[in-house]
Amino acid sequence: MSKKILTFILLMSLSIVGMYAQPSIERIEPANWWVGMKNPHLILLVYGKNVAKSNVKLADNSIALLEKIEKTDNANYLFVYLSVKSKAKAGDIAISFSGREKDTVVKYSFLERKSKADGKAGFNPTDAMYLITPDRFANGNPKNDSIAGYTDTTDRRKPDSRHGGDIAGISQHLGYISKLGFTTVWINPLLENNMPQTSYHGYAITDFYKIDPRFGSNKEYCDFVKKAHDMKLKVVMDFVLNHCGSSHWWHNDLPSKDWYHQFDSFTRTSYRASTLIDPYASQYDKAVFEKGWFDNTMPDLNQKNPLVATYLIQNTLWWIETSSIDGIRLDTQPYSDMEFLNDWAGAVNAEYPDFSIVGESWFSYPAFTACFQRNQKPISSYSSQIGHVTDFPLCFAMLASVNDSDDWDNGMAKVYNTLCMDFLYADAMQNLIFLSNHDLSRLEETVKGDIHKYKMLVTMLATLRGIPQFYYGDEILLPGDKAKGDGRLRKDMPGGWPSDKVNVFTNDGLSAIQKEALDFTRQIFTWRKNNPEIAKGRLVHFVPNNGLYVYSRIAKNDDAIVVFVNNNKKPVKVDSKVYAELLKGAASAKNVITGEEYNLSDFSVAPKTAIIIELKDKN
Ligand code: CA
Repeated sequence: MSKKILTFILLMSLSIVGMYAQPSIERIEPANWWVGMKNPHLILLVYGKNVAKSNVKLADNSIALLEKIEKTDNANYLFVYLSVKSKAKAGDIAISFSGREKDTVVKYSFLERKSKADGKAGFNPTDAMYLITPDRFANGNPKNDSIAGYTDTTDRRKPDSRHGGDIAGISQHLGYISKLGFTTVWINPLLENNMPQTSYHGYAITDFYKIDPRFGSNKEYCDFVKKAHDMKLKVVMDFVLNHCGSSHWWHNDLPSKDWYHQFDSFTRTSYRASTLIDPYASQYDKAVFEKGWFDNTMPDLNQKNPLVATYLIQNTLWWIETSSIDGIRLDTQPYSDMEFLNDWAGAVNAEYPDFSIVGESWFSYPAFTACFQRNQKPISSYSSQIGHVTDFPLCFAMLASVNDSDDWDNGMAKVYNTLCMDFLYADAMQNLIFLSNHDLSRLEETVKGDIHKYKMLVTMLATLRGIPQFYYGDEILLPGDKAKGDGRLRKDMPGGWPSDKVNVFTNDGLSAIQKEALDFTRQIFTWRKNNPEIAKGRLVHFVPNNGLYVYSRIAKNDDAIVVFVNNNKKPVKVDSKVYAELLKGAASAKNVITGEEYNLSDFSVAPKTAIIIELKDKN
């Protein structure tokens, strides 16, 4: 036998050994798609032992055409590029993967898109958002507390263990949220986090297409969104694009070597997002920030790889179309590759023009935050396509204002100065404003049981410019100190578990101050919900004087409210001449929350008090 023939036989037998008798396909993602999407292109990730050795064919071309196949350095993956025909009707196609003895044929479904009336409505300044950590709000289904194959245990005594809260629990209490005056629910991530420990927070996703079974199922989530919509509540889903969990199903068999940013040894991000916009930044600092891993359990996804980018974009579109959510809260916005993020936001906007995205842009300075909002003023080279940003600078200013004495830069001047810098934002009205969230010390750590400070802060939250966001449990002053660990911030909502002695949903066992805070929160956000023109209104404010900060929201129809926040420990008399442009010669005014009436010719604001008035008897 000649050498050539021997080599030929050897190569043939190697290729036959490598090819399966019948290919086994373990996963195809996304699991289905739709006809009638604006972008006709779709890339399927196909996973199965040595699947890259198969030939791929479509049985017919009625719905989609096979554009091409892409292989990577891992033979267990194939990427199948399809092009959906423009006028195709919904239906199934058969995709065959050739094997040595038998082909594997997979049915793949293209569904009809839901009508535009189903959700996807976006959010705006007339909305008010209630933030929930789902493991900690209410346990509506104790049967899903422990699931075979999911090792992180449920133990309410441990702040970092799972506590059993779920979608069913939130669903049962949507009426509570709506009656509190909120219009929108943002839930921390619900996708599978099958991590060995500390998985309750949801930010280490191990399957981008699956609701964690301890929270419920994909169907339960879709039913939940529908129920919320029926109750006139919008739903915001929390997306994590920058990283996944280290127990993700692909972690030990990555689709390609460059699926993650790889380092010789574990390299943590510096968390210094300033390096993206710093005109003097070193290449080293830029690379460590952007490519370093968020944590050793959170590998950094390489979004410069077009297959990673498309995977994440399609996953987002899949959830919007599947569940009809109204908006997205995007985790760790600056940590994602800017060009990828713009493609991602562009793809969402193209399919869902009314949809809203708020990016988590966590900075102390407005100039930093402003760079991450769409249509930013030309203040940095970073160019964002995200419409809403999280206003941490205003949060820190508001919290500091009620505990500091007033001077040139402190007390109410902190809020005033921060708002003076709004010229940096493309549209500060679209900022998400808040007093706490799942990553910050709870509001009670600032007010320390002082109901006056609570009302001052919540009044500013409900009446300053922006879209207010409120963290569950703050309405009854739950404590939670960041210094003691994040698990302790995300307290169980009293009444969410059958054995709870205190129950916020029935008012049982609440202290007098908790009841007062809860009632005030309900009154002010209900008033806000019923006066949407005010929430859209123009802001006019005055330099704080003697501890008194005065501002107005003026609607297009000239309806206005005037807000007085007195940080002084003494009553402060309102000089009607100073505020004449807001008070418009009105003789009297009414407190929009309490109904109390004031004679404006002799009007003082009590110490540590905020009031909202509407004017009566205007000239
Ligand atoms: Ca449960």
